[in-house]
Amino acid sequence: SHTILLNKRPVGRPELSDFKTITEDQPTINSGEILLKTSYVSVDPYLRGRMSDAKSYAEPFELNKPMVSGVIAEIVESQNEKFKVGQFVSGMLAWKQFQKSSGEGLRVVDTSEVGESVYLGALGMTGMTAFLGLTEIGKPKKGETIIISGAAGAVGSIVGQIGKILGCRVVGIAGSDEKVNMLKSQFGFDEGINYNTTENMAEAIKKACPDGVDVYFDNVGGEISDAVLYSINRFARMIICGAISSYNETETVKGLSVQPFLVKNSALMQGFILGNYAEKFPEATSQLLEWFKEGKIKSEETVVEGFENIPQAFIDLFDGKNKGKMVVKA
Ligand code: NDP
Repeated sequence: SHTILLNKRPVGRPELSDFKTITEDQPTINSGEILLKTSYVSVDPYLRGRMSDAKSYAEPFELNKPMVSGVIAEIVESQNEKFKVGQFVSGMLAWKQFQKSSGEGLRVVDTSEVGESVYLGALGMTGMTAFLGLTEIGKPKKGETIIISGAAGAVGSIVGQIGKILGCRVVGIAGSDEKVNMLKSQFGFDEGINYNTTENMAEAIKKACPDGVDVYFDNVGGEISDAVLYSINRFARMIICGAISSYNETETVKGLSVQPFLVKNSALMQGFILGNYAEKFPEATSQLLEWFKEGKIKSEETVVEGFENIPQAFIDLFDGKNKGKMVVKA
């Protein structure tokens, strides 16, 4: 059975040598325990932060210890009456092909109607981030304009679809024409902007948002966010969900001063961390499931085959190789 460890802390862009794969014996279980076979592994941009030792909202990973992320696993042996062989569970688990667990913190997921991996995306942390960030901080009203950075990614693609359900004009920013086309044809976005081929982002945003921006859902930060500020309306709300453009920077990046934009427009900018909304998770998951079953939310995934390819799939997030949620089929 293979396990992937954090080998060294990345400097700048993560590399394959930051990870190490070792071979271990398959664990044996005792009374009260279950044996899990990893089925799907989620790779997420926030893991980059945990690979560093800088203090953040999540504890840093330890060197020479297994990497951990959202995992869907099949129960292959059980000595715990709450869990049956053949069921699938979702939880924060180690990057191991096989592992044992007491079952604590694991949730059995119903895979009869929904594909396993959707619980890592639209119906998991990703979907809840999109839903709670947008509704709790963004509070969009019908007819308002929402602009989303990282729009073709896991969180962004769900934010846009929820924005359409709520009756808003939705504009997405992404890194290729193919992604921009997908936003419009597959997810119902009204407009899309390819930041890699657009010379003047502030102008392009103005054009795509003729009534200005009421809600900005930010996944990337940096220059893209600077450009959005020129179009914000009075009382605009900005959800700072992530800043992937800076995750691999080794020095603090100096950008535009946002304060004048906020003052002039009485605008709100607030950082979002999913963990702060734990009491709303049941409400969020049942709403997402309802929309998913009604076909109002589509789950796009990029599935990488092979447990050994987890590190490469993670690195590829920083090159935008994914459309929708990046997952690895173990
Ligand atoms: P994504 O699926 O969006 O994957 C990352 C995407 O970011 C890539 O596909 C790429 O798309 C884009 N990207 C990569 N580098 C850059 C760059 N330098 N500038 C602009 N875009 C870039 O990941 P997630 O949906 O899982 O996460 C999105 C954001 O939300 C992340 O910042 C993440 O940290 C954050 N997040 C925060 C949570 C919270 O609780 N606060 C919870 C979950 C996620 P493209 O081709 O368009 O460049």
